[in-house]
Amino acid sequence: MLWIKNVHLLDPMQGISGIGSLLVKDGRIAKLVKPGEELNTTEALAVLGADESEALCQLDGGGNYLFPGLIDVHVHLREPGQEEKEDINSGSRAAVRGGFTSILAMANTQPVIDHRALVEFVRLQGERAGKARVYPVAAVTKGLEGRELTEMVELKAAGAVAFSDDGRGIQSAELFRLALEYAKLTGCPVISHCEDDSLAGQGVMRKGLTSARLGLRGIPASAESVMVARDALLAGETGGKLHIAHVSTKESVRLIRAAKAAGVDLSAEVNPHHLLFSEEDVQLTESVYKVNPPLPSKEDQEALFAGLMDGTIELLATDHAPHTWEEKAKPFDEAPFGINALETALAAVWQELVIKRKVKPEKIIELWSANPARRFGLAGGTLKEGAPADLVLFDPEWRERITADSLESKSQNTPFLGKELQGFPVMVWVGGKLVLNRRKVQD
Ligand SMILES: [Zn+2]
Repeated sequence: MLWIKNVHLLDPMQGISGIGSLLVKDGRIAKLVKPGEELNTTEALAVLGADESEALCQLDGGGNYLFPGLIDVHVHLREPGQEEKEDINSGSRAAVRGGFTSILAMANTQPVIDHRALVEFVRLQGERAGKARVYPVAAVTKGLEGRELTEMVELKAAGAVAFSDDGRGIQSAELFRLALEYAKLTGCPVISHCEDDSLAGQGVMRKGLTSARLGLRGIPASAESVMVARDALLAGETGGKLHIAHVSTKESVRLIRAAKAAGVDLSAEVNPHHLLFSEEDVQLTESVYKVNPPLPSKEDQEALFAGLMDGTIELLATDHAPHTWEEKAKPFDEAPFGINALETALAAVWQELVIKRKVKPEKIIELWSANPARRFGLAGGTLKEGAPADLVLFDPEWRERITADSLESKSQNTPFLGKELQGFPVMVWVGGKLVLNRRKVQD
């Protein structure tokens, strides 16, 4: 039993922001002492149903933030098949270090998560690791080949919480339409990686002045937005539940806004790197900036920010995509796409949005915990009594230099390597179990 006292509670689901405390029993939130409310030790023991001889661990949070653990709906854990980049154990350790108590593991592994046994494997490996909750995302099409649908109902029964061919766009509109229809039987969202291959071609960065100057093959913004338009239309027609991954263009934001206004059941996410870096940051010698979709223009960034602020885009997600040093050391047009993000994303977003742009901290928790829980039907996302005790104690003043040694991830392909960031989780609980402790517990 645990009593976390003197913390700034953040729970956008209940509209709470202020100093209070929280009691944990049997892995759940037993009592939330809201700002302005009082609770003495006798009352606390009564809540917990314990007599005074039983141990009640009290923790002084020192006025730091306490919020429901972040839920990341877009993570690549690389297991099975590419364990040299990451595995479920290292990825889930990286997750809790970054403040994520639940993560969705994408299906583009080797083999692809398109079969019942593989969904179960991912789920069990997550349980074995015993850190963040790991939820499998199953493939939409067998082998991610874009030709034949998977057995969605069976995959859902095995533990899949969403369907996605992420890493590839599903080129056939007819097949995607069918996927939205069938996914309705499961109640799970289809996550679309919007990329039209005929437009993206062999591009490696956003098509524009920078790509021309660097002599790199460009991907036009329309490669994404064309498919966002198509998928929104298909979701509207079928009534399917659609989630658009990694939105990166202003046209996509505009299309999503219009589709939502028309009542389409769709949600969308933005990745921190698309807010923090632009095409102008791309350098030939720095393939760490090679991501898919590619880094946007400054104008796109402003549209993404506006979309997040006005509720058009309700989720933040990392698209954590670990790659080995050798792969990312290749020349820009040969290196794989992807940024390693779990351990740096929250601090980077805190710096950019909360400190620099004066976004309220509770907005970040809404985008990264409350809304993902709601949209994907997952436990957590709130400090409500009875909810699982998936909690983050967060020190907004904690500064840290990111180094290869400091990362739990097996890979280090982050643009923050060698740089200092501010704002980190110091303690993290999943189901009431302490899974990260970077501070000495005070008596
Ligand atoms: Zn993707």
